[in-house]
Amino acid sequence: MTDAPVVDELTPPVRTLMGPGPSDVHPRVLRAMGTPLVGHLDPVFLDVMNEVQELLRYTFRTDNQWTLPISGTGSAAMEAAFGNLVEPGDTVLVPSNGYFGHRMASMANRAGGEVVSVDAPWGEPLDPNDVRDAFETHQPEVFGFVHAETSTGVRQPAVSELTEIAHAHDAFVIADTVTSLGGVELRVDAWDIDIAYSSAQKCLSCPPGASPITLSDRAIDRILTRETPVRSWYLDLSLLEGYWGEDRSYHHTAPITNVYALREALRLVAEEGIERRWERHRRVARTLVSGMEDLGLDRYAAEEYWLPSLNTVRIPDEVDETALIDHLLSKYGIEIAAGLGDLAGEVLRIGCMGHSARPANVQYLLSALEESLNRS
Ligand SMILES: *Cc1c(COP(=O)(O)O)cnc(C)c1O
Repeated sequence: MTDAPVVDELTPPVRTLMGPGPSDVHPRVLRAMGTPLVGHLDPVFLDVMNEVQELLRYTFRTDNQWTLPISGTGSAAMEAAFGNLVEPGDTVLVPSNGYFGHRMASMANRAGGEVVSVDAPWGEPLDPNDVRDAFETHQPEVFGFVHAETSTGVRQPAVSELTEIAHAHDAFVIADTVTSLGGVELRVDAWDIDIAYSSAQKCLSCPPGASPITLSDRAIDRILTRETPVRSWYLDLSLLEGYWGEDRSYHHTAPITNVYALREALRLVAEEGIERRWERHRRVARTLVSGMEDLGLDRYAAEEYWLPSLNTVRIPDEVDETALIDHLLSKYGIEIAAGLGDLAGEVLRIGCMGHSARPANVQYLLSALEESLNRS
């Protein structure tokens, strides 16, 4: 047997988080996480749950009864969406224009779906005409799309057009709103989205661990009348409803502290006002993008589908991206990220999400970038 390891108290550095997530956490959210634990069936916690659900409906712009946080990160909420809605043998249409569309494909496949794709180059949104053609060719039961593609900095415009096409074919629409919820205009009811899921650590500026999802009555009907049980016990929404629905009976122990954190993060959204928050993200990111252009870093995504919460800029030939990213972190404590997939080596990814979307952060990053770019 070895001796008890001696490990120092944790003193993480204070970073400025301007990458693809997590974003800077608001001090009020961290304080909420330091408050005492109560049991997950304590009447006090049941009130907290109701408040979180109400705040989530406000933030998603929906009246959906089934609106709750899934225990786990955004990928857990994503797997809950695909795993519950897709039955073995269903045809599932997903996009190929970014990293997270590919993750949708793996999850749909594991749920027993037959995956087909609608294509667009990485760095461009889906064209509704291509979606219409794909519906005519494949007649999918489920269509997933990414509202805010964090790998490319592309916002999918004209969401209503996509949901209309899907509903004209009696299909269900799953929207990945991980990098849009609380930061970029998103209207679940007005846009007629059947299921939208998100994460806590992007535009909500909350530590990861409890991830929002909302489901329409039509989606719930389909889930409750499935022919086969959902393959995941943990993420089976028909069971989770026992806890988050009227009964409030035990399914699994909620991540209580993460739910506290989410409540506080959503309280900040409500205090600011959702539309003002969308506007702030656009305004602050606009300053960031024009400042980067002055430094010779051109925006990658076109204006019509620019995503303010995640800005991709082209890397000039003479710039060593790895050295730049390392220098920003070691000298300034600023985190940004490299490109992924087809855009690896082509772009930098700079987040402007939630509490990170502040003029002070933008000015700090721009000065640090200026010094770093002039160094070589
Ligand atoms: C971050 C992200 C996810 C996955 O969320 P995790 O919290 O990392 O599990 C899914 N989709 C998009 C668009 C994301 O940006």
